[in-house]
Amino acid sequence: MKKPLILCFALLSWAGQAQMDSTNETIRSIYNLALSEQQGYKWLAELCSMGPRLSGSDQATASLLHFRKIIDSLGFETSLQPVTVPKWERGPQERAWMISQGIKSEELAVCALGGSVATPDAGLEGELVEITNFNKLDSLDLKGKIAFYNIPMDPTFISTGYAYGNAVKQRWAGAIEASKRGAAAVVIRSLSSSVNKYPHTGSMSYEDGVTKIPAAALSTYHAELLSRELAKNPALKLKLNMACQWYDSVESYNLIADLKGSEKPEQLILVSGHFDSWDLGTGAHDDGAGSMHALESLYLYQKLGLAHKRTLRLVFYMNEEFGLSGAKAYARMSKEKGLKHVIAIESDGGGFSPRGFSIQSTPEMVADVKNYRDYFEPYGIYQFASGGSGADISQLGSDDKVLIGLRPDGHRYFEVHHSALDNINSVNARELTMGSAALTALMYLLDRDDICLNCN
Ligand SMILES: [Zn+2]
Repeated sequence: MKKPLILCFALLSWAGQAQMDSTNETIRSIYNLALSEQQGYKWLAELCSMGPRLSGSDQATASLLHFRKIIDSLGFETSLQPVTVPKWERGPQERAWMISQGIKSEELAVCALGGSVATPDAGLEGELVEITNFNKLDSLDLKGKIAFYNIPMDPTFISTGYAYGNAVKQRWAGAIEASKRGAAAVVIRSLSSSVNKYPHTGSMSYEDGVTKIPAAALSTYHAELLSRELAKNPALKLKLNMACQWYDSVESYNLIADLKGSEKPEQLILVSGHFDSWDLGTGAHDDGAGSMHALESLYLYQKLGLAHKRTLRLVFYMNEEFGLSGAKAYARMSKEKGLKHVIAIESDGGGFSPRGFSIQSTPEMVADVKNYRDYFEPYGIYQFASGGSGADISQLGSDDKVLIGLRPDGHRYFEVHHSALDNINSVNARELTMGSAALTALMYLLDRDDICLNCN
């Protein structure tokens, strides 16, 4: 009686080994093609050569339409979804100086925070109050002064993303809280993990009923210098000059491209990045890299002729940075049309070496994705974390779908994030390519093994 059972086990383990071998081969073929062509990097270089893609700018829409042509030429089915986006411009001048005894001393590297109002044409001058702890605001007299938030990203966090999340309140809410206490303007320490002379922008906010005051970011180097000088001379002043401006909202688009599935074309596996960027650099990492990851993964699928039961959908979201308008419009449209997204993937952590994925779904789904770890280990991917996927795809909700974010190495991301350093020179072609290959391999496994909710 025992022999057939042993034979049965032997057959099963042979079949299991055969499937593992063929899966390893398929994944290897994805990486081979990706690394030998590095097509995503070539596209990223082309994208960055067109300039920054600030939401609401002609440049952002023109670059998107250019990429539609590229994608059309690959034979994917493309469409544009109209999206209304806010329009704000930095303007021609943004400068800051320390003023000691009425005399301009050192000029400080500064940039307006995204969405800030301008200073008067002649600039704005005031004494400074340094704030090193958000919770101690009430103990400070900010009336008529320039609030100087100098709260560094905590370097002891292993995840720079958490350090950023912990410090970002000064940028997001700094102007509101300072204005409530009578401040005339705010300057914040750039949210950067390193000390250099590049200021980092990013969105800030105002509150109805609270006076809108100018808000700027100083480079980390100059924030530290200002802090030291202020300790020596508490009467030190700052002069700030910014000519940024809001305009009426304008029309732009999300770009959608489909590769039809063979068995369940109505089920969508979405892979995405946000197409808009900040304007100081060219958004090579944020989020040109994620956008090209998404495009390259569809390209690799097509070129390798990889089977997929479901439709693979690329989305380039417009305007993540100024309030997620593209993602919100897409989620609304998805609901109205009753689209069935079974998996949604986003890459918005830069083009550095991929280290893993974050998975937002039921514990069972998370465990199923984690089971793939052995396939990815040879490629340096080992972090399979539960929770947190991406700002754009989160708009779709996670009740009936698996949301996944690519997790690149984060140690250098906040050196370049939202600054002039975020340009093509800061992207390594191999590291970027490894991200595209990782996404392709993951999509292949999830679709083949039906790792999705209500998708059978
Ligand atoms: Zn981003």
